[in-house]
Amino acid sequence: MVIVKDIELYSLCEHHILPFIGRAHVAYLPRGKVIGLSKIARIVDMYARRLQIQENLTVQIADAISEVIQPAGVAVTIEAEHLCMKMRGVEKQNSTMKTSVMLGTFRESQATRMEYLQLIADR
Ligand SMILES: [Zn+2]
Repeated sequence: MVIVKDIELYSLCEHHILPFIGRAHVAYLPRGKVIGLSKIARIVDMYARRLQIQENLTVQIADAISEVIQPAGVAVTIEAEHLCMKMRGVEKQNSTMKTSVMLGTFRESQATRMEYLQLIADR
């Protein structure tokens, strides 16, 4: 399993045109082809730059990595703080939103998913 943790992420939510800021974790199980760490970070940046919602961003990153190297599985998790939550009516100062997408082996195998979740939880 190849895993890249804590990729900084800056994006804008399409509902409120306010920033959401956080980090992304990306993992994949290679099947022949691999992808450089900087390329993974570039894919995250490329999609983050667009106006969107975090759920779709997570899916787009996973799909892009799937397409580029066709691995046995891809997992993407994003944890972000949304300024729209902090500044607007509800004013939840400490909430974060976590989204994840599991494809291929990460979806099918509980052992693989557990390994991934443990690796991203380790500090
Ligand atoms: Zn928002």
